[in-house]
Amino acid sequence: MTADTDIAIVGGGLAGTIAAIALARTGARVTLIDRNAVPPDEFRVEKLGGMQLESLERLGLLDLLAAHSTRFDQSLNIRHGRIVDRTNARYQAAFYADMVKTMRSALPGGVRTVIGRVTELATGAELQQLTIAEHGTLGARLVVLASGMSDLLRARLGITREVLHERQSLTFGFNLRPRDGIAAHPALTVYGERPRDGIDYLTLFPIGGLIRANLFVFLDHRDAWIKALRADPLAALDDRLPGLRHRLDDVELEGRVQNWIMDLAVARNVRQPGVVLIGDAYQTSCPAAGTGVSRLLTDVERLAAHVPAWLATPGMDAARIAAFYDDPVKAAMDAHALGLAGYRRAFTVDTRLSWRARRQAQFLRRRLLNAIDTLSPPLAARIRALRA
Ligand SMILES: Cc1cc2nc3c(=O)[nH]c(=O)nc-3n(C[C@H](O)[C@H](O)[C@H](O)COP(=O)(O)OP(=O)(O)OC[C@H]3O[C@@H](n4cnc5c(N)ncnc54)[C@H](O)[C@@H]3O)c2cc1C
Repeated sequence: MTADTDIAIVGGGLAGTIAAIALARTGARVTLIDRNAVPPDEFRVEKLGGMQLESLERLGLLDLLAAHSTRFDQSLNIRHGRIVDRTNARYQAAFYADMVKTMRSALPGGVRTVIGRVTELATGAELQQLTIAEHGTLGARLVVLASGMSDLLRARLGITREVLHERQSLTFGFNLRPRDGIAAHPALTVYGERPRDGIDYLTLFPIGGLIRANLFVFLDHRDAWIKALRADPLAALDDRLPGLRHRLDDVELEGRVQNWIMDLAVARNVRQPGVVLIGDAYQTSCPAAGTGVSRLLTDVERLAAHVPAWLATPGMDAARIAAFYDDPVKAAMDAHALGLAGYRRAFTVDTRLSWRARRQAQFLRRRLLNAIDTLSPPLAARIRALRA
């Protein structure tokens, strides 16, 4: 068998699609395979900001995202019903399926797309063979596995998943329809009030004419309050975030409540010839930490830096692949994401004195800086610059 393509990417979610764009730009022949022609309505990331937007700008994709998502530049941060401070930073918000659709629309003409489920993978130091249901086989020099959290293909290659923290967090998503229009509703972040409630924060932000709610929780999924939340989120939140209702007195719930239980996991035995894992296929992220997309964009940018050298000479041995996992920028991002996952959980639910003190100090510092900001914005800016 000969190679039909240089790179076969399995999975056209955010990681696989952006990888296809970036790798095609290096001059490689790329084939992108996904089981769904239209991305399904799955609950994943719904707003991008900070370094995620910077990375998309470097990849030349930010303007496209901006044209197909809702921008907001400020959010009001609240705890115990009172304003803590304001975050002045750009975000772009969209439902995940729309984000993926938007990125797929930027695939260069040279990228071949195949809609089908990859059922078998045979990999080695020379040639990779993929079996695609109802399409037959495909030969590639390199397989990029961007198949998200599903385990089937990893298992075929003897790649295991080490679960670092089972059911590390719960995330809820639901839509609120404002009766008087979206304009009257600034984006809000509402922090949990007590460690025993397990609420890290609720974020409310615009997507089109809707207010989208993402709630990040560290509780047992069988907790009675979690059941109540699934049934009637506004009533359940009244109980735990009492200051919230007066800011949401003119909204109604629209559609179903989505939820996700996340295991924090890393793939093991990945240093194999011919195949490289990116995005959630390699490592999952705590949604509250907001690092999943930072990780996958780092994976894409670093992979695009390594691949031209890999394709320049015959073969695809494990040493080449290892260079990607050992890439210091990638390794640092993966470690940062795991560290932040642990931090968010401890910051929310840890009742030891050190964490109680940390929580109080952080919110006190932010409230003070916000007060200084009101009196003297230049002084507040100087203090922020000193801390940066
Ligand atoms: C509830 C929730 C909230 C989140 N919130 C945030 C956030 O606020 N900020 C943040 O940065 N990150 C967040 N994340 C993480 C982020 O959404 C993920 O890291 C990111 O979506 C992973 O993208 P991916 O392309 O790796 O995987 P996916 O999007 O899952 O894509 C995998 C693709 O592979 C395809 N596929 C799988 N198997 C096969 C096969 N055998 N053959 C063909 N195709 C196949 C699937 O159809 C799918 O399209 C959140 C995650 C969750 C679950």
